[in-house]
Amino acid sequence: MIEATRAKGLAQLEEFLPRAADYYQKNRNYDLGPEDRRGVSGLSPYITHRLITESEVAEAVIEQHRPKDAESFLQEVCWRTYWKGWLEGRPLVYQAWRRLVKEDSRHWPQREDFRKAVEGKTGITCFDAWVEELKATGYLHNHTRMWFASIWIFTLKLPWSLGAQFFMQHLLDGDVASNTLSWRWVAGLQTKGKHYLATAKNIEKFTKGRFRPEGVLAEQATALNGPPHPPYKSPISFPFQASEQLGDKYALLLTGDDLCPEIGVTGEMKPERILSLPVDALQEADEFSKKVLTFKKEALADARHRAEAHFGCSSEQLEPGCDPAGALGELMKARGLNAVIYYEPFIGPWKDLVGQLSTRDVGVKFFPLRRPWDGLLHPHAGKGYFHFKKYALPQVVRARGRFGPKKVVT
Ligand SMILES: Cc1cc2nc3c(=O)[nH]c(=O)nc-3n(C[C@H](O)[C@H](O)[C@H](O)COP(=O)(O)OP(=O)(O)OC[C@H]3O[C@@H](n4cnc5c(N)ncnc54)[C@H](O)[C@@H]3O)c2cc1C
Repeated sequence: MIEATRAKGLAQLEEFLPRAADYYQKNRNYDLGPEDRRGVSGLSPYITHRLITESEVAEAVIEQHRPKDAESFLQEVCWRTYWKGWLEGRPLVYQAWRRLVKEDSRHWPQREDFRKAVEGKTGITCFDAWVEELKATGYLHNHTRMWFASIWIFTLKLPWSLGAQFFMQHLLDGDVASNTLSWRWVAGLQTKGKHYLATAKNIEKFTKGRFRPEGVLAEQATALNGPPHPPYKSPISFPFQASEQLGDKYALLLTGDDLCPEIGVTGEMKPERILSLPVDALQEADEFSKKVLTFKKEALADARHRAEAHFGCSSEQLEPGCDPAGALGELMKARGLNAVIYYEPFIGPWKDLVGQLSTRDVGVKFFPLRRPWDGLLHPHAGKGYFHFKKYALPQVVRARGRFGPKKVVT
């Protein structure tokens, strides 16, 4: 189990930095197994929960390497932002996936073929090994995620919706945008008519012969059909700075989507109290594996402790199992506070939870904020990745200090 702290994320970034250019470019596609992950950074669980931010990762890389040399790595970081921006402008795609999960969960989990897949007993050696690895480590290499999803959809003929949910249950870096949209991409739903078919030859090459699934994978398949993409609505632009109407007695609310309150806009502010929402209050909480739940809880606790030290005030977490809106209202009243600031969560469970709080009248004013990275880049994600990259990459490279603090890795 990896340590869910910012300190560990920063240490891992520091350790990876020398490999972020040439080494990464040459090795990133090879999955040599859990014992040798030097080809990739392994930073995704930290970035997903914003224990470390995209901007500090990018800036640290650019400080050590010429941007041209590290382009391959910076592009991958941009992919993450692209998917987030794409989904933020098309929340219906997320809602449609959740609806499909509900429908497909009615009958598929009882079927033997489904049970064998999630238990890693399909008889396809590589697939079964990846199921085991995913459950044991909470991580799979990017290339393996593609092969896995492809085998799930086209060889095992299982519903993509439940494959995406299976990943969210077990990945420590489970991220609604990267995950849902990557599964859709493999299925051929994201880029219309274009799907990803895993081949035995490719798996053998990029696992350096660890797996040779000759003759057991679907060799032909057609892309799945789905409705056209809904029109892109540019994401609502929350301010980078808190409004003057905030007053001077407010709390800082932490959600699992942004656990770096000491960095960025909020870092400069003076909240009277730190509050955090319990992971158990998420609608999907009972879908997460024990490992994922523990990671999320530890990450939140780490952020609370850092926030206490940074802001010099106490923190408290709403009781698990409480009615979060009612409990927040009472707690704020008891502390003589009536406003909260927070980084607006992304499409997904934390946003749904904060949405429930902010639409109930519990005598609390909500002031959502966003990081310049999201506010400036997301609205450019409405079209394809190459269009996005053309805008985003130069921004990221040139705009040192614009997206976050200048020197971040200490
Ligand atoms: C079917 C499928 C499901 C996926 N589900 C998730 C998920 O739930 N959460 C998640 O964070 N990523 C997901 N990815 C993307 C990618 O596989 C992971 O981000 C990556 O493997 C994380 O490992 P790393 O940090 O070592 O990556 P590195 O190769 O070191 O990349 C550095 C960072 O760039 C970003 N990144 C790299 N590759 C991608 C990519 N293809 N798409 C988006 N961002 C990328 C990540 O933030 C990553 O930490 C999925 C990909 C596929 C094909």
